Parts: sequence; C-alpha cells; structure tokens
Amino acid sequence: MAVANNTYISCALGCVTGSGQEKNNRKTMNIKIKLLCGLFLMLTIFVMSCNSIKEQHISLKILPPTMLEKNGTEIFQFWEFKNDPFLWDTNFVQPTSLKLYEDSLSNILGKDSFEHRILELAFQDTSFKSINAKNGDSINAQLVHSKTLGVIRPINYLEAQLLDYQISSYPLLSHPTEFHGFILFNDSLKLVRVYFAASDQAWPPKPHVILEALENDLKMGWTFVYHLHNHYEPKENDYLGILAPSITDAQYYLFLSEDYSMKQAIITNGFHTVEIQSEDFKKLKSPENN
Ligand SMILES: [Zn+2]
Repeated sequence: MAVANNTYISCALGCVTGSGQEKNNRKTMNIKIKLLCGLFLMLTIFVMSCNSIKEQHISLKILPPTMLEKNGTEIFQFWEFKNDPFLWDTNFVQPTSLKLYEDSLSNILGKDSFEHRILELAFQDTSFKSINAKNGDSINAQLVHSKTLGVIRPINYLEAQLLDYQISSYPLLSHPTEFHGFILFNDSLKLVRVYFAASDQAWPPKPHVILEALENDLKMGWTFVYHLHNHYEPKENDYLGILAPSITDAQYYLFLSEDYSMKQAIITNGFHTVEIQSEDFKKLKSPENN
C-alpha cells in the first residue's frame, strides 16, 4: 500500500507537476510563435520596402535600353518606364559618374571658385547687366540671365541619369561629349519614353532614326515634351557649360517644335538645367535672325 500510495503520490505529484510544465511549455511555445510571426511580418515589410526603394531608384546604367541602331560608337536607343514623380525630383543622391565629375571639378578649380562659377552660370535676375553683344550665342545667354526667357533650376533625377549614362562611357573632363535626349509622355498609359543618341564625338550624331520612331509615337498618342542636351566648356573656360542655347540649338528647337510639336527645350551642365518654352524659341537668336 505504502508503495502504492507512494506511487500514487509520486504519480499525482508527477501529474500535477507535469500539467503545470505543459502549461508553461505551451505558454513559452505561444510566445515563441508570436515572436516568430512578428519577426516574419517585420521581415516581409522590410523586403517589400526594399523593393519599393529599388523601384523608385531606376538606374539607366542597369535598365536595359531598346536599341534602334548602332553604328560604331554611335548609339540610338530608348528606355520606357512608369512616370513616377521621383523622375522630376531635384533632390536626390547623385549617380556615381556625375558625383565623380563634381568632385574632380571642385579639386581642379578649388572649392570656392567652383561653387562661385556654378552660381554665376545659374544666375537669373532682371538686374543682370546686358552688354552690347553681337554674337548670337552671347545674346541668347543674356536673354536667359536677364530673365527675359527661360527658367534655370537644379538638375533633376532623370536629367542626371541621362548625363551620368553618357559620362560613364566618356568622362566629361577627359573626353567631353554631348548627347541628345528626347523625352515623351503617354498620359493614358502613365509612361515616359526617353530616346537617347550619343557617340564618342563632341557633337551628338544626327538622330534620324529617333525622329522616325518619334513621328510614329506622336500618332500613337505620345506627346514630345522635352529635348535635352548637355553643355560643357573647354579647360580654358573652366569646363562648366553655359545654361543657354547656342544659335544652332535655337534653330534645331524651331525645327523640333514646328515638325514634331516639341513643348520645351532643356539644357543641363550637370548641376543646373535651363528650361525654355516653345513659344520663346522665336525670341532666341538663330542663324536665320542673327
Ligand atoms: Zn547646345
């Protein structure tokens, strides 16, 4: 009996102790499951946010373009993507080649001279003192600086991406080049299409193949909003490009607005961009009225 009692007691104790442990184990297990679920949820949110950040920061050096034509170093291609507001944002992390250009220029010119020159080129005010220039290019620059036409603002994300794309192949300091960018919108599809023409030469190649494609796009409901190109200067003029169209640029803008309904001309020097509306193209000096 004693044995049996002991057995009973030990069994009873054991049973009581066992069920208490089980409850505790179950509690611990529940906490662990909840923690794991929480961790999984946090991880999912983190991965999703990473993907959306990645999506917001398209890089033209990574996004494969559609090639229209390639002749030696001449390339004619386009990219198409969703029209997201970040494309037009002027506050962004500079792409690597553009950042390298900025750092190199700051070292060569000296930080203060570099910053002064950047601001001087972006200056726009009605108080700007115009000189009696006979040169059409200088007259166009005066029209912009005196705020008669055009608006100068900081370079935006898409412009920086396009310049970065070209200068990662041909650095602006050692091998300066100009590129053509044709930016089209399709409002119903909420898409942006960017045609790009460039080569290893200082002047961009004649973009006949792009104009043919563009003409077709216009029939399909696209709008040709911007023509973008970059300006730079030789070493003796401190490298930084003028934010105004040359007389040949003005002539080209008249052609693009008349034949392809282009809305705005934009020129960037890598730091600022000047925007000129099509209604002002006739006010610019071009070979016809110079
Ligand atoms: Zn130009």
